[in-house]
Amino acid sequence: MVDLKGQHNKIRDEIDAAIKKVVDSAAFINGPEVETFRNRLKEYLDIKHVITCGNGTDALQIALMALETEPGDEVITTPFTFIATAEAISLLKLKPVFVDIHSRTFNIDTSSIEPAVTSKTKVILPVHLYGQCADMEFIMDLAGKHDLKVIEDAAQALGSEYTFRNGIVKKAGTIGDIGCTSFFPSKNLGCFGDGGAIFTDDAESGEKLKAIASHGSRIKYYHDITGVNSRLDTIQAAILDVKLRYLDRYNIKRLKAAEYYNRALGDIEQLQLPVRSGQSSHIFHAYTIIAPPGQRDALRDYLSSKNIPSMVYYPVPMHLQKAYIDCGYREGDFPVSEELCKRVLSLPMHTELAEEQLEYICHAITDYFT
Ligand SMILES: *Cc1c(COP(=O)(O)O)cnc(C)c1O
Repeated sequence: MVDLKGQHNKIRDEIDAAIKKVVDSAAFINGPEVETFRNRLKEYLDIKHVITCGNGTDALQIALMALETEPGDEVITTPFTFIATAEAISLLKLKPVFVDIHSRTFNIDTSSIEPAVTSKTKVILPVHLYGQCADMEFIMDLAGKHDLKVIEDAAQALGSEYTFRNGIVKKAGTIGDIGCTSFFPSKNLGCFGDGGAIFTDDAESGEKLKAIASHGSRIKYYHDITGVNSRLDTIQAAILDVKLRYLDRYNIKRLKAAEYYNRALGDIEQLQLPVRSGQSSHIFHAYTIIAPPGQRDALRDYLSSKNIPSMVYYPVPMHLQKAYIDCGYREGDFPVSEELCKRVLSLPMHTELAEEQLEYICHAITDYFT
């Protein structure tokens, strides 16, 4: 599915040097490389404040804490996501309120958000799934109208760009009040372990996020609020500082692979290929096709018999997970998400896909359908 070794081989010397420097300095926690990386990421995203943290799940939790949510407050989000999105909400005793997704972009169906708003709603938490932004212009307008905050889950979309109708372009994670991302190794910008970051343009939120990630402390050993311990290791920051310089090139390689799939599989009528939404670029964290009803698992087994890996992101929507049984949702509540959980299949997608590999994969899929 991914080829991290192949990617690493090409920048091995730079990475080795960066790691060695940290090891030699022994500044493993909050070393100067963390600040350097934060500044580089600030510049890349064109955002005022970047707070690094331990992983993407922590980033979401810290963001929700910084908005001073209270137990029972409602957070509107998508049921078609990785568990972390919902988990951060429920861990804080907030209530996840799910709304269905668009059948073609896999992102939150913005027309379903307003009917879900109640007097308890505090936050809208869109996920930019598979590398493509949700309809942020609509979401920001709606949030303004109802006085809600917006947290973006940009774990799969770092580097993706959203164009507003007035022509302004912003990067995923920099549009809402707070943006969150993950540096899990297989993400578009991955480190060699766990890592995450939180972004905001608001100075007060920036201060608060930083304090929460650091045991609720602004001055060492003085704790104003209850926080958590969530840090990006210096070694990971040093690695990310090297890899961030390659991120745009990596995302273009993914796009090229996606274009190959689009061309080679475009004539197979039974398959639905990824659809680009009008206002967002796509950085193809995942290349996800929709199989004909009832055929996904057979297709997956067939690909596996040809030594082609594939993955199902995600087999069960959040509202039907056992962990969310108490929320009272049932099968049929979000038909698009439920249907897509049965039909989506993600094909190998990474920066090192060779043309022969793509050709082999596409031939196999074409054979299957003819
Ligand atoms: C990966 C991911 C996360 C969580 O990131 P971790 O670093 O693994 O904690 C959150 N949301 C989405 C959509 C993700 O894909």
